[in-house]
Amino acid sequence: DISGLRNLQRVDRRARDLIRFTQAMFCGTVPSLFASRAFLERRGIDMAADPPEEFRWRGEGCPGPTKAVMSDGRVFKGTYNELWDENPWTTQFRCKICPDAIGLCADLAVGDDWPGGLPQGEDDGWNAVIAHTVNGLRILDACEEAGDLTLLDVDVRHLDSVQPHHVRLRQGLSTRLAACAAAGLPEPEFHDLALDDCAAAFGADKRDQEYQGTLRRLMAGHGDEDQLADYGAAVQQQLEDQ
Ligand code: SF4
Repeated sequence: DISGLRNLQRVDRRARDLIRFTQAMFCGTVPSLFASRAFLERRGIDMAADPPEEFRWRGEGCPGPTKAVMSDGRVFKGTYNELWDENPWTTQFRCKICPDAIGLCADLAVGDDWPGGLPQGEDDGWNAVIAHTVNGLRILDACEEAGDLTLLDVDVRHLDSVQPHHVRLRQGLSTRLAACAAAGLPEPEFHDLALDDCAAAFGADKRDQEYQGTLRRLMAGHGDEDQLADYGAAVQQQLEDQ
């Protein structure tokens, strides 16, 4: 989203003048309702026949529970890990070729800060915050001065350990794009994303696996938006292979 805004700001003075600050979160994709439906099914609820009045994927804590409130007052809760780690989920193919799911173009980018990329239980609300611009840094400093944030400086490589799935996604991005091009999909142009460096860090074997895997998914129709990619399972497998 911020990339689109930056493109607009290149050509639109009002966008430059009026939008003074941008913040993005590390995006975990927009999943389908598959995981939510399955969460309810494990509790004996058919979401289509008996939809919850309220459903929270997280919140009310860090990360907080997955929570469904039914019209008759019943409340079902589960953990973040049950929803996103212990069971399969699906998402859109576009998220597999997302050029910037970590807010590189934003003044500030924020993300979860859990060792290995998964919560070890509830924590006190710690997050990773990255200032990409002087503007972002000034805002962070102002928040700290106002007592709204407590900041701890860490090396940027800390992100590798708390966001390993984004490391893998970026390392494999140019390979997935190459597979898309080979399958005849339109080729987007991305600049300044250090994708060649990311791909080099991936290694030839993994690039080959990624290429073949993406081609197989595309041939099975997963590149169409009305289809779903088995994103979660694939990433889990990749992480296990590390
Ligand atoms: S395309 Fe990128 S930013 Fe958009 S939902 Fe998917 S991962 Fe997130």
